[in-house]
Amino acid sequence: MRAPAPTPAPRPGQPVVLRGGTVLPVDARRSVLPDTDVLVVGQRIEAVGPHLDVPEGTAEVDATGGIVMPGMVDTHRHMWQTAMRGYGADWTLTQYFVWYYLEHGRAFRPEDVHAGNLLSAVEALDAGVTTTVDWSHGLQTLDHAEAAVDALEAVPGRFVLAYGNIQAGPWEWSRSPGFRSFVERRLRRSDMLGFQMAFDVTGDPAFPERAAFEVARELDAAVTTHAGVWGATGDDGVRLVHENGFADERTVWVHAATLSEDSYHRIAATGGTVSVSTESEQSCGQGYPPTWMLRSHGIPVALSMDTSVWWSGDLFSAMRATLGADRSREHLEAHVKGDTVTNCHLRADQVVEWATMGGARALGLQDVVGSVEAGKKADLVLLKNDRSPVMFPVLHPYGHVAFQAQRGDVHTVLVDGRVVKHEHELVGVDLPAVRRTVEATVEHLRSALGPEAWERGMNPEVPTTDVLDNPYTYTDFRTAATHSA
Ligand SMILES: [Zn+2]
Repeated sequence: MRAPAPTPAPRPGQPVVLRGGTVLPVDARRSVLPDTDVLVVGQRIEAVGPHLDVPEGTAEVDATGGIVMPGMVDTHRHMWQTAMRGYGADWTLTQYFVWYYLEHGRAFRPEDVHAGNLLSAVEALDAGVTTTVDWSHGLQTLDHAEAAVDALEAVPGRFVLAYGNIQAGPWEWSRSPGFRSFVERRLRRSDMLGFQMAFDVTGDPAFPERAAFEVARELDAAVTTHAGVWGATGDDGVRLVHENGFADERTVWVHAATLSEDSYHRIAATGGTVSVSTESEQSCGQGYPPTWMLRSHGIPVALSMDTSVWWSGDLFSAMRATLGADRSREHLEAHVKGDTVTNCHLRADQVVEWATMGGARALGLQDVVGSVEAGKKADLVLLKNDRSPVMFPVLHPYGHVAFQAQRGDVHTVLVDGRVVKHEHELVGVDLPAVRRTVEATVEHLRSALGPEAWERGMNPEVPTTDVLDNPYTYTDFRTAATHSA
């Protein structure tokens, strides 16, 4: 028997119906809709329901046995760094800071930012991440910024350029005339490419970041800021932003891991969102992934992957790691008191909500995307993989998304009503061309740094591990055996 020939991908503008899947709308009731169709006409979800009538010429996607969910939203990813995928697998935050701020980050040319963004954008779509915030703090010049936007516009995903520049103070770059005209010219023309300003607040009592916050206010831009990073940003920064009236419901606080109760109260009271990058916080040392604290303060949560220098841009891993870290902490806190957790507070449906609606809300896109509801823009993911023994049975669909599924199970992805991944294949993406540009960037960076520095940067020194004396080690036993022989 021959396998059935693959069906051609639906054309842009062609209506699409996903037939007979288990739909997770991620609505307020956390509904689960078995054997349900989702009809997409133009850019929007036209209808959600059983056995829908569809317009003539509608492309049919068989979603039976699969899960249909909203496209995922990554609220903080340094896309420009993706050309160095995996290089920092053994880094701490200190190594990252030295490498990016002082050494190699400076060597990035505009075309290198372009290469990283392009790869990251394609990777996001492949994994069902339909909206990604490009936390772009490598924009040393306007040419770098042009290159970043060129790459985002070349890929049919939804993006937010969070403009930043680690090589200058935010009070400097934000006030340059070139920055303003760039924003007017290239950003905020549609909900496909949003705009934030990305900078950190050091806690300097003079609060020099005030100037950048004022520019953000004039430009009507939300601010996203790494806050609560052990050894870098902390309570003073949060207090200064709040006391000066710049904390609001559009502020995205990234990590928020090493903070006092007081800071969490300030964040909660002003309605901002925390973007939690659990895998990052676990390995870099910003602090314990904070969802267990955020839950008790009622602070909205969104998820993010931070950077592919360490991790993949894959929100399945983010959901899984976040559930694990939150539950670990809940058990640990209970054990310290001699108690046992008998019911976990954090549920699988909650992390799926954080990965979808939570992200949309953080970006002010809650009425546009983030859930599967008629009238919304059609950013959709079908998880289905008939060749995988992991895709059945689907008994607890939210749990299946969080703990069982992975990027290889992403069968179909739509953004703004357009099919961008079809039957496990990206549509219209020239991956060999992306590979070539990334290889050129790697070659440039390696030669700019020199092979020795390149190797050293990737393989930081390993501290010695003192193995403890073990009273049960039978050294005498061996001696005794020799003697008796
Ligand atoms: Zn970051």
